[in-house]
Amino acid sequence: MTSLPRANILARVPEPRTGPDVTAMSDWSRVTRPIPVPNEWTKPFWEAAKRGVLALQRCQACKHFQHPPYATCVRCMATDLAFEPVSGAGTIYAYTIMYHAGDKRFAAAIPYASIIVEPDDAPGALLAANLLEAPYTEAKVGRRVEVVFQPLNDDFTLPQFRLARDTR
Ligand SMILES: [Zn+2]
Repeated sequence: MTSLPRANILARVPEPRTGPDVTAMSDWSRVTRPIPVPNEWTKPFWEAAKRGVLALQRCQACKHFQHPPYATCVRCMATDLAFEPVSGAGTIYAYTIMYHAGDKRFAAAIPYASIIVEPDDAPGALLAANLLEAPYTEAKVGRRVEVVFQPLNDDFTLPQFRLARDTR
């Protein structure tokens, strides 16, 4: 770590500690997201999202939900799989704050929160998304979130998440 000189500078110019940090809002307005390329396993997920429905793959033998979709159940290896709607309420399972754009298309939103969400109805299924409508600093493990649907174009809608409005 070579943080000593920087620490001295910060000591002389303290960051404001009161009020919400409005500078922590990620600017998604100038980001053009990559368009999904569905395959036979993911197609039902995207078709449901376009209708404003979060639908996840569920094993019809052992009733386990899984995401992303696979050809077989990851728990019991059954091949009888179907997509079933879930409520869209869930919890942040993990998160990363992106300070560098590995993909230049996301540069305008830096810094932003990438989150992994575990839906209430589908324990064990983990969805990758961004935390929208909140400062990226609000991404914390265990926080309640709800799905929002972000249209990408006429064909694709991306399930994303925001902090849950009904706090429990
Ligand atoms: Zn199964």
